[in-house]
Amino acid sequence: MKRFAALAMLCFLLLSGCTARTEDHVFFAMDTLITLRLSGADEEDFRLAEELAAEIESSLSRTRAESGTSRINNSENGIPDADRHLQTVTELSLRIARETDGAFSPAMGALTDLWNVNGGGPVPAQEAIAEAKSHADYRTFTAAESSVAKTDPAAKLDFGAVGKGYAAQQMVLMLRQSCDWGLISLGGNVGVFGEKPDGTPFKIGITNPKDTSAPIGYLLIDEGFVSVSGDYERFFEEDGVRYHHILDPETGYPADSGLSSAAVWSRDGARADALSTALFVMGAQKAMEYYNGHPGEFEAVLITNENEMILTPGLTWGETFLPAGDSVENP
Ligand code: AMP
Ligand code: MG
Repeated sequence: MKRFAALAMLCFLLLSGCTARTEDHVFFAMDTLITLRLSGADEEDFRLAEELAAEIESSLSRTRAESGTSRINNSENGIPDADRHLQTVTELSLRIARETDGAFSPAMGALTDLWNVNGGGPVPAQEAIAEAKSHADYRTFTAAESSVAKTDPAAKLDFGAVGKGYAAQQMVLMLRQSCDWGLISLGGNVGVFGEKPDGTPFKIGITNPKDTSAPIGYLLIDEGFVSVSGDYERFFEEDGVRYHHILDPETGYPADSGLSSAAVWSRDGARADALSTALFVMGAQKAMEYYNGHPGEFEAVLITNENEMILTPGLTWGETFLPAGDSVENP
């Protein structure tokens, strides 16, 4: 009996030695909680991930005076020495702004400052909105080599709608080199890589806009990134009306497109993030037209104000999108 127990223990040790440990690590950066679930990671991986998040934050943050983004915002006509994160994100953002006809715009700084949704408002005067809107044109900005230039001194970059997705992607690119598989999450942006030992897909919960404590459904993905933009994420209320943080660049007011939420899957993390914001602003019909014009680039779950779910044709009910209730366990 004793010999059997020793043998069983030996088998257990050998087997567990073969299966890498899965560990969670949580830290705060970029104004949000960042969660890493990694298999085969060590302390150095966690340290490097934190360092990378801090590096990206100190480049893209709009609230840190010394960041490249702040230096551009406070300058007359831009800066000649944008770092690689700022350069990449500016270029990609300007491209997506053109592609989405400005529904996503990295130049919303003047408007987001004025609305101050995080600070609780209040609703600005109409003239003030018109004035800020006149300084929120993304065509003011150009990026070339390491410089970012602007023609309107009052224009301000705001990467709030793309920075976390970019960071998710940069972290995945780094961590996939040393870990077996992983799932990382930064305030509404998730990235996955590798294959879990049981071979099942990653299951990403999509928040129910009408009851944010529960998911309305799950995206099942093998790779890539999921970003969600919702009117329930950040808002203030005035006279019984909810004013949320996703602004329509055309009106200067919170987007009122008939959607409460847009979740986007893409192989590119920054694109998933920027597009979730863009589709939210466009509304269901324009979003579907955009999808048809950009085959293979992304998939989306759109949730209307009535909580109706609309899937792009690359997703399948009950397979790649499970409504809540049809549960499959995550790792
Ligand atoms: P997200 O939660 O990814 O949709 O990003 C929303 C944040 O991006 C807001 O808090 C603003 O800082 C900024 N933002 C608001 N409206 C837009 C827009 N139409 N395009 C790009 N960024 C925006
Ligand atoms: Mg976004």
